[in-house]
Amino acid sequence: MCGIIGYNGKKNAIPIVINGLKNLEYRGYDSSGIAYFFKEKIKIIKEKGRISELEKNLDNDMPTLAIGHTRWATHGKPSKVNSHPHMVGEVCLVHNGIIENYLSLKEELIKKGYEFKSETDTEVACALIDSLYKKNRNKIEVLEQIQTLLKGSYALLIMFLDDKETIYALRFGSPLIVATSEIGNFIASDIPAILEYTRKYYLLEEGEIAVISKDKVNFQLQGKEVNKKLLTFEHDISSAKKDGYSHFMLKEIYEQPKVIQNFLDYYLNNIDLIPDISNYEKFILLLVVVLIMLR
Ligand code: GLU
Repeated sequence: MCGIIGYNGKKNAIPIVINGLKNLEYRGYDSSGIAYFFKEKIKIIKEKGRISELEKNLDNDMPTLAIGHTRWATHGKPSKVNSHPHMVGEVCLVHNGIIENYLSLKEELIKKGYEFKSETDTEVACALIDSLYKKNRNKIEVLEQIQTLLKGSYALLIMFLDDKETIYALRFGSPLIVATSEIGNFIASDIPAILEYTRKYYLLEEGEIAVISKDKVNFQLQGKEVNKKLLTFEHDISSAKKDGYSHFMLKEIYEQPKVIQNFLDYYLNNIDLIPDISNYEKFILLLVVVLIMLR
């Protein structure tokens, strides 16, 4: 599982995105990268290894919009060329997840003349969006369409070369939150990435497309704008960090009773947010027992 963060606001986006990626390091990764607009082009800087390797190669640019990524390789080895962001034609993106049907999509795209530099499923998704965008200049319609074509899991942050003002995002299976603040708007795979700037966030639901501008965020679902509930992260910041434990895994194990209590409290206080489960035929309850051997 990798980390994703995008920022669009008033400040220099590079330190904000790098800081956000560092706050997502606990998710594990093997490489990292960042993309931003620079002189009518999109500049991509990426490196294999720790975020500190990426930092060594950063330029002194001051963009106010950027997307960043830490990769946990699933398709292709950890390497600079396989790292995200990827760019094909007019589309640049970062991806968390696995595109299961990428081989058949890749074959079709090769027939259309696309060439691939990396071994990733992500570059295929990027080329697919580019190919659709070449035929239909309506970005929202293209992003609606892509959701019917991609199989698997994805959280995608997307920049279009002809739109310097906006980050687009969508997800299936992999999580994304959209956060708002005085200094601009964020999109990230998890809360710790944005907590230094804001506690106000939206949960992006599957099927929705987030349109993140400097001064507003907007959500589209099946061609219509959706009004979503702005949530507040009420917990202590330390609860999103290691909080004294030496590893996140230990913290997760010891926090299980608290998490279940918080989960129940949250839904009992927000009955309207409980998903409609009346159409499900059966539920499978998995009980995982972890034994810790103490010496
Ligand atoms: N499947 C993509 C890759 O291998 C994304 C992996 C991730 O979630 O970091 O590049």
